Amino acid sequence: MNCSVAQSNFISFIAGGLDGEDLEAFLDHLDQCPQCREELEINYSMYRGLEILDRDSDEPLNVQKEMEDMISQAKKTVARRRRIKRAAAFFVVLFVSAMVLFWTIERKV
Ligand SMILES: [Zn+2]
Repeated sequence: MNCSVAQSNFISFIAGGLDGEDLEAFLDHLDQCPQCREELEINYSMYRGLEILDRDSDEPLNVQKEMEDMISQAKKTVARRRRIKRAAAFFVVLFVSAMVLFWTIERKV
């Protein structure tokens, strides 16, 4: 993913609408690109700022921490998805191996 694609995904990410491969590529890009990370923080601040104004709330705002939390949460989601994919691949291999074994035994009988 390049910077302009990453930046076009900011709003989706902030709104929680990014998932799957897109989310994975987006997070990978953020890890490698300090400019986009900074840019995302600015976008996030604006978004949250508007939300807070809208809500008329007095709660203190720690935008940087919130954003870091959001990113680490998203990373957990991606890691979980990777584990599920690996497990699924493992079962496919297991199933195919079992079938091959079964077929080999059948033919010997
Ligand atoms: Zn970038």
